[in-house]
Amino acid sequence: MFKDTNLIEFFKDIVVPPVCPVCGNISPELICPACKSKIEKIDGDVCKYCGRPISDYKKSWTIADADKYAHDICSLCRKEKFSFYMHRSFAFYKGAVRKIMHKYKYGKMYGLSKVLVGFLKQAYDKYYRKEEIDYVEAVPGEHMQILCSEFSRVIKIPFAGNIIKIKKTPRQQTLDLYQRKNNLKEAFKVRNSLLASGKNILLIDDIWTTGSTLNEISKVLKNSNADKIYLLTIAGGT
Ligand SMILES: [Zn+2]
Ligand SMILES: [Zn+2]
Repeated sequence: MFKDTNLIEFFKDIVVPPVCPVCGNISPELICPACKSKIEKIDGDVCKYCGRPISDYKKSWTIADADKYAHDICSLCRKEKFSFYMHRSFAFYKGAVRKIMHKYKYGKMYGLSKVLVGFLKQAYDKYYRKEEIDYVEAVPGEHMQILCSEFSRVIKIPFAGNIIKIKKTPRQQTLDLYQRKNNLKEAFKVRNSLLASGKNILLIDDIWTTGSTLNEISKVLKNSNADKIYLLTIAGGT
């Protein structure tokens, strides 16, 4: 026989209808249609390397713009030499997407991984489906490991978990760009270099801000002779 508290727990799952994690309204889908329609995907023209929107450049184009194709590369990528092959992001980091990511990461509502995996899958299908990717990798951290192993099952590409963090670092958000790069020096390590050697790897993170962390891990993988590093994040746009 159930104790009372067990009984409440038991019925809670059955009786409470699913609610939208963004607005709290009852919803038959993972996110209600109203909230879903407000998600701002990164759909316009993007930099061919880092995936940041570059539509603002294009507004100023003239038909006679001789240097037209140079505009497919953003100002950041013209200065930086990134170690990854390319990066793409699903949506802008705001509104519903931001709310769900917060609940997942800081509220540890790991049940929301299904929604986030769905976001990653949409971006993957759009940009990377035709690429020959050997395995999926996550930026170290519990929430990303859970997400990435689930995502790997969905796209049917193995998840390696071959990257580890070997240095405690202050949160990137508290630092400027220069400090961010230094902060990450020798922070990551590839567990087994042979596994990375000659492979095309899809590296997943939640947010693209300056790309410092993702680039640092890409560098470490490249040092293990990895071939192409594809990056995929849920949100970005900066
Ligand atoms: Zn909603
Ligand atoms: Zn770029």
